Amino acid sequence: MQLKSLTLSGFKSFGKTTIFEFSSPVTAIVGPNGSGKSNVVEAIRWVLGEQSMKSLRGKKGEDLIFNGSELSARLGRAEVKLVFDNSQRRFPLEFDDVVVARRVMRDGTNEYVLNGSVVRLKDIYGMLAVVGLGSTQHHIISQGEVDRILWASPRERQEMIEESLGLKEYHLKKREAERKLAETAANVRQVDLQRKELAPHLKYLALQSEKMRAHEDFKKELDEKVRRYISCEHATIIALEQMDREEEKPFLEKRKELEHEISVLTHEIHAAEKTYSGVHMNKEINEKLVDLDEKQKNLNRELGRVEGALLTEGNNEVGTVSPAEFLRELGDAILFVDGLMQKDSFESLKSGLKDIKVMLESLRKLCRGEKRAKEGDSGLREKKRVLGEQLREIEKKINDLREQQQEETTKRESILGELREQEHHIREYEHELESVREKLREVEFAKEKRHERRAELANFIRDMRIDGEQKTGNVFRDDAERHTLVRAIERLRIKLEEAGGIDGSVLKEFDETKNRDEFLERELEDLRKAVRSLEGLMKELDGTLKEKFVGGLRKINEQFQSYFKQMFGGGKASLYAVKPEKNEDGEEDNTAGGVEISVDVPRKRLRSLDMLSGGERALTSVALLFAMSAIHPPPFLVLDETDAALDEANSGRYGDLVDELSRKLQLVIITHNRQTMEHAGALFGVTMDSAGFSRILSLKFEEAKEYASTE
Ligand code: ATP
Repeated sequence: MQLKSLTLSGFKSFGKTTIFEFSSPVTAIVGPNGSGKSNVVEAIRWVLGEQSMKSLRGKKGEDLIFNGSELSARLGRAEVKLVFDNSQRRFPLEFDDVVVARRVMRDGTNEYVLNGSVVRLKDIYGMLAVVGLGSTQHHIISQGEVDRILWASPRERQEMIEESLGLKEYHLKKREAERKLAETAANVRQVDLQRKELAPHLKYLALQSEKMRAHEDFKKELDEKVRRYISCEHATIIALEQMDREEEKPFLEKRKELEHEISVLTHEIHAAEKTYSGVHMNKEINEKLVDLDEKQKNLNRELGRVEGALLTEGNNEVGTVSPAEFLRELGDAILFVDGLMQKDSFESLKSGLKDIKVMLESLRKLCRGEKRAKEGDSGLREKKRVLGEQLREIEKKINDLREQQQEETTKRESILGELREQEHHIREYEHELESVREKLREVEFAKEKRHERRAELANFIRDMRIDGEQKTGNVFRDDAERHTLVRAIERLRIKLEEAGGIDGSVLKEFDETKNRDEFLERELEDLRKAVRSLEGLMKELDGTLKEKFVGGLRKINEQFQSYFKQMFGGGKASLYAVKPEKNEDGEEDNTAGGVEISVDVPRKRLRSLDMLSGGERALTSVALLFAMSAIHPPPFLVLDETDAALDEANSGRYGDLVDELSRKLQLVIITHNRQTMEHAGALFGVTMDSAGFSRILSLKFEEAKEYASTE
């Protein structure tokens, strides 16, 4: 037993809570027209999720709520509850009883309750689909709709058949997969778009961070080169300074030596000059010579006079002075004075003046006419001898002095020669000294350059903000090596300057953006994987559906033929799948494809279903519905006056089929047909009381017959 009970509270004419207990495989509900029997069918349809108000004979939800009557008040809500036996676990729920309920309020609020929990319609559909109670509700045949399956389009018919085969579940799964696929595809597009939007920024950041890393590399390289430069430059300067010192040393020594030489020579020259000037300044000899010369002259004059006197002694006895003699004496005196005036020595002047006095005395005597004292011949001769001796002495002295004078001249010349030679040496030394000084200046210049280089290096170190200890490296091999390094440093500095201005946060942002992109990439990969798996699932579902449908359809077809023959006492009927036609765009017209029915009623030549009589349509439909229910039995089948159009003979056959079917599923039949009632194990009579409430009562078959006929 699948269906245990049905409870109606406030649903349509069931204003009072009414419970149908389905204790028999076949339950018949009987009652007069308008008593509310069809409302029971609608209640079942509704509680199972029916969405079409039309098929519930209403316009809005409110129409389903007991509306009251002249004698009774209307209600605020309607509720229908269906209890299934789930001890076999046909429903995928861990409950022995599955209770499905639906409520509607006057404000239109509608809710589904599954075992006490409010659920979504989707959940109800999902659960029912498992047992073949789908939304097409082929298992609930409403009044006058027995041949609905014949009127239906091939597509709708296929849907009903699929549902009856329990394939609705697969369809729902497929739809769910489709929905998920669409959702996932949208996500793929969205994530893809996000990645595409992110891409230029990421690219920019990658470039920036690459620059930044290059910047770091440049910095490292620059630091290494700068340190190398400093250490090598330092070593080179030290080496050059050492070289300068070594180069300077011999020149310094040479300079010292030369300066010493020059100073010694200068000293010597000074001494020689002094000596020379000493020789030069000695006028004594000259003066002596002049003096002696004078003396010689005077002696000669005296001698002359003596000799003259000696001569006169012989011729002129008495001393008369002739004018010639007087003038000669005066001339001698004038000459003497002239000579004296040349002298500058006081001593000479003094002795000269004495001589002048003698001369003047002699002249005075001459003027007085006095005779010169006769000295006598022998005195004169003696005087002459003395004078001669004196003259010889003077001559000797003069000669000695002249010799001495000659010696001094020779000495002076030799000193002068020596002086010239030494001066020549000094010039040579000075010349040499000048070239040494030139060399030293060159060295000094070089030292100056080293000094500048040191200062430059110090500036460089300061500019480069190099800290830490600086090592002394190898010397530069040559200037070219140094210049190459300097140029490399310059180039790196320019590069760094050009690359400057990169924000340090770029790296962080790049990492974040990259992570985000990688995350999106993974997400995209996951989504694509999901798409593939959903597509796989859909393919699989399609395969399963096709397989199950083809197999199921074949079985239903066999059963349909068998029931058809049974109902018509012969003839043929079959179901066949038709492929959807393709429209102009090559797309399949889904409404066109599906399942077609062909019937061959015995003794009649029918070309179309439309040509069947009402009864024949009912028989065909019943044969098909029963075949569908027999192959994949739903938990129950509700038939609302499906037998209305059947004649007695056919009613009998219908009853037999009901019997046969009841072995597979539960049947709830609303009927006025006594033959049908005979096949029911339980019977409910429905009546409507004066207050407009439908009421039910359990009946015995006999009562039911009565009930049905008496209304
Ligand atoms: P028949 O044998 O002629 O098919 P039936 O027993 O199937 O009749 P129903 O069609 O189920 O009868 O019942 C219709 C009755 O339900 C009507 O009398 C109608 O007034 C009543 N009904 C329908 N909707 C409501 C409602 N909202 N409130 C009260 N009564 C309602």
